[in-house]
Amino acid sequence: MGKSCCAIDCTNRSSEGSEQSFYRLPKAAEKRRLWIAAIWRDSWYPGTETWICGSHFVSGKKSDDPLHPDYVPSLFSFTSTADRTRAVNHLERYVLYAFRLCHVYLPGSLASGGAVSNIFV
Ligand SMILES: [Zn+2]
Repeated sequence: MGKSCCAIDCTNRSSEGSEQSFYRLPKAAEKRRLWIAAIWRDSWYPGTETWICGSHFVSGKKSDDPLHPDYVPSLFSFTSTADRTRAVNHLERYVLYAFRLCHVYLPGSLASGGAVSNIFV
């Protein structure tokens, strides 16, 4: 089944052999609300078969960590250069902290997903 991206001005579609990843909108109410707000379409009521492509995530894929910049998609045709830069910086910080936590302070903690969340509080 073909998937097409729901983001404004995005023409990405899934096709055989395509590297592009697609994600369903989250089911969890709060996260779903954040995603819908981020996608920012007028009078838009996404159904269950609504997809967004990886291009709208700074790292190219979604994250389930609320502190990760890709917890919510952030790159769209209407996103300003400043906001894009901010998103990339956010990801760099996140990766740096995750790396430090994993390799210096709490070895192995990244895999369990526990400790990274505390650093941005
Ligand atoms: Zn897209």
